[in-house]
Amino acid sequence: MVLTPLEVFEQADVIIEDGKIFAVGPGLARDDIDETIDARGRIVAPGYVDVHVHGSAGHDTMDATRDAIEGMAKFFANHGVTSFCPTTLTQPTEDIMASVRAVKDCMENPIEGGAQPLGVHLEGPCIDAEKKGAQPEQHITHAAAIDYRDLFSLGNIKLVTLAPEIEENRDLIPFARAQGAAVVVGHSSATYEELAEAVQHGLNHATHTFNQMEGLHHRKPGTVGGVLLLDEIYAEFIADGVHLHPAIVDMVVRLKGPERAVAITDAISGAGMPDGEYELGGQKVVVKEGAVRLPDGTLAGSALTLDQAVRNIAEFTIASLPEAIQMATLTPARSIGVADRKGSLEPGKDADIVVLDEDLDVVSTIVMGQVVYRA
Ligand SMILES: [Zn+2]
Repeated sequence: MVLTPLEVFEQADVIIEDGKIFAVGPGLARDDIDETIDARGRIVAPGYVDVHVHGSAGHDTMDATRDAIEGMAKFFANHGVTSFCPTTLTQPTEDIMASVRAVKDCMENPIEGGAQPLGVHLEGPCIDAEKKGAQPEQHITHAAAIDYRDLFSLGNIKLVTLAPEIEENRDLIPFARAQGAAVVVGHSSATYEELAEAVQHGLNHATHTFNQMEGLHHRKPGTVGGVLLLDEIYAEFIADGVHLHPAIVDMVVRLKGPERAVAITDAISGAGMPDGEYELGGQKVVVKEGAVRLPDGTLAGSALTLDQAVRNIAEFTIASLPEAIQMATLTPARSIGVADRKGSLEPGKDADIVVLDEDLDVVSTIVMGQVVYRA
C-alpha cells in the first residue's frame, strides 16, 4: 500500500530518480530501473518530519556540535524520520547561536546516512517564566533585551517559540515571519484574546498543545482555547500517553484536524537510551518508564520517537491511518513552509520515504533516494 498520504494506492510503484520522486502510481515498473526495492505487503509513506526535537541517543542540540546533530540524525532514521528541526533550549543567546551554527554546517554539508536537519526550532528564551516547565528560569528573557536578529542571521531558523502576550516580545513576531520562520506560541500565559491578536501579526503555530500553556476554562478559553479554535494555528502535540491523556490527543486531532495537528516528539538526549539520569540545559533529568522528569516531577521533554507517536495516534484517536501519517509528514512540512520538497510522495519532491510493516514498525528509511536504515 502506498500512502502519499493524501492519496491511497492499494498497489503502486514509486519511481525515484536523482534523489527525487519521479512518479507514483500503479503499473509504472520499467525495464531500465537500476535497483528495485520490493515493498509488497508493506506500507510505503513519506518519511516522518519532526519539527520539535531536542535530542536523542545521548545527544542534544545544545551540544552545538556536528557530532551531536549527526548522532541524532542517525537515531531518527531508525525511527522513520527523514528530516527534523533540532530544537534549542532557553540558554544564553551565545550558546543558542553556537547550536544555530552547528545546524547550519549540517545543512550545508549534508549528513551521510541519517535524517536531514531542515533548520532550527528556537524554543525560548523569550517565554513566560510562569510556564517555564523544564526551561531554565535564569535564562528566560524577552526579545527587547537580546540581539535576536543575530540568531536569524544565518537564515536557518524555521520556528521560534515565544510568549506573545509579553509586550517586549511583540516586535519579534512580524520579524520572524518576514524571515520565513513559523511563529509559535508556547510556554505562554496568553489569553484567548491576546493569542487572537498575535495571529493577526503572524503567529501561526503552537508548541506542545496543552503542556505549559494557559489552560481551558469555560469563561476563560486561555491559550489552549485559542490554539484549538483559531484555524491559522498549526498545533503540535506529544502523543506519548504521558504529556496528554489519550482522550486529549483525540480531542486535539478532532478539533484541529489532520491538516493542522502536528505530531512532534519533543524528545531529549535520554530518548532511545536506558532508564537513568540525563542532562537538559544544565539540569538533571530522570528517564523512567517512557517519561522524562526534573527531580521535582515536572515533565522535561519526552523519550518518544515519531514512529511510536504515529502508532499511538492510530490507537488513541479518530484519525484514519493516512491521517495519522499526514500529521507526521505533510502537515509538519507545511507548517514550516517546506512542503514544496518534503512531506508527501509526489513527483518533484525529495525521495524521503519510510516503509512500515502492518504494525507500523519501521522496515526501512530512505533519505533523498538513499536507503539509510534497514530493520
Ligand atoms: Zn521542547
